[in-house]
Amino acid sequence: MSLVVHKYGGSSVADADMIKSVARRITDARKKGTGVVAVVSAMGDSTDDLIDLARSVSSQPHPREMDLLLSTGELVACTLLTMALEDLGQEAVSLTGSQAGIHTDTSHGQARIDRVDTARMLQELGEGRIVVVAGFQGITEDEDITTLGRGGSDTTAVALAATLQADRCEIYTDVDGIYTADPRIVPEARKLDEISYDEMLELANYGAKMHPRSIELGAVFNVPIYVASSFNQTPGTLIHGNADKVEMENRIKATGIACTKNVAKITVRSVPDRPGVAAALFEPLAQSGISVDTIVQNTSEDRTTDISFTVSGDDLSAAMAKVEELVKEIGSGALISEVGLAAVSVVGSGMQHTPGYASRMFRVLADGKVNIDMITTSEIRISCIIREEQAEEAVRLLHRGFALDEPDPADGN
Ligand code: ASP
Ligand code: MG
Repeated sequence: MSLVVHKYGGSSVADADMIKSVARRITDARKKGTGVVAVVSAMGDSTDDLIDLARSVSSQPHPREMDLLLSTGELVACTLLTMALEDLGQEAVSLTGSQAGIHTDTSHGQARIDRVDTARMLQELGEGRIVVVAGFQGITEDEDITTLGRGGSDTTAVALAATLQADRCEIYTDVDGIYTADPRIVPEARKLDEISYDEMLELANYGAKMHPRSIELGAVFNVPIYVASSFNQTPGTLIHGNADKVEMENRIKATGIACTKNVAKITVRSVPDRPGVAAALFEPLAQSGISVDTIVQNTSEDRTTDISFTVSGDDLSAAMAKVEELVKEIGSGALISEVGLAAVSVVGSGMQHTPGYASRMFRVLADGKVNIDMITTSEIRISCIIREEQAEEAVRLLHRGFALDEPDPADGN
């Protein structure tokens, strides 16, 4: 029998009527003769409410207790959805993450899935039941409950689709797919019919905000992921690995424009130019969980060099504290920080074999009087660090400059 995994986010199960409407959607899929596993998130903002509650009784809630507490949000949603399904005449059963056989490591609040024992789910499916699984949670070898990190139900859904060898994973959310740019910034942004896993990872910072680990899992296990709205029947976007096709369609075009605001830059001047200095600088940052993005090292003069890198504005003070210690140790010059920056990126798997993307990006920004502070590239992305107040205009200019507002004859919309 064919099998599909559905996932419904918190905003899709925010109240009783929405839960009933999700139950009807699942029933429709089941009536087509397909086996259905449905993964649900906690209702509405209830995870945030639980976090607030925990903080109101404890200044530093114990991570084990926090995870057990947060796991209850998903239990509420999954039991209610199962009741609603039974009311529609469907046979259904709700399972906690641990009952569904989701085994994780012990890193509370950020646990990773080690394996999924599918026996219980397969037994229930074999008996004709719809299986409703509480998202975002699992169990350790010591039988403690863990959670996978905020937004982790996407990862639950893709992990189940991979291990159950489902035909595909369908993520239902409050936006109807992946767009060429954030539609709130670029009104003429178009919805994409399909996108590759790699491109999705680059574009996931707006619109359909999926848990990045779910896309990585999808890519590793080759699970097609369909993202669509739970509120209507509008066709969504298929994320899959058919990169050749995507590349052919995009040879002359980018796939989308991404933008990250609240970027900060740290510059360390006159760093001694010898082996080990960059490692000494970045290892402590990595150890404290601060992720560093764009890194630029200048050519050295007088055996010293300047190193600049960006971090999220939220991490700036923690990063500065770490770097200050190091600056003293390695004997470099001044330490400067700058806030109010943004990264704008042109993304497209077509660009790795086609020259001209970078020059076009720089020309568009130059004509728009946008100054570029730093530049980085990957095989499928070119990013420029610019002033944050110019970011939205830059996204609009690049969207037009790469003709993303024009319908793509290859994808029929
Ligand atoms: N309920 C959790 C959260 O709000 C997990 C999820 O929504 O996927 O982060
Ligand atoms: Mg949620």
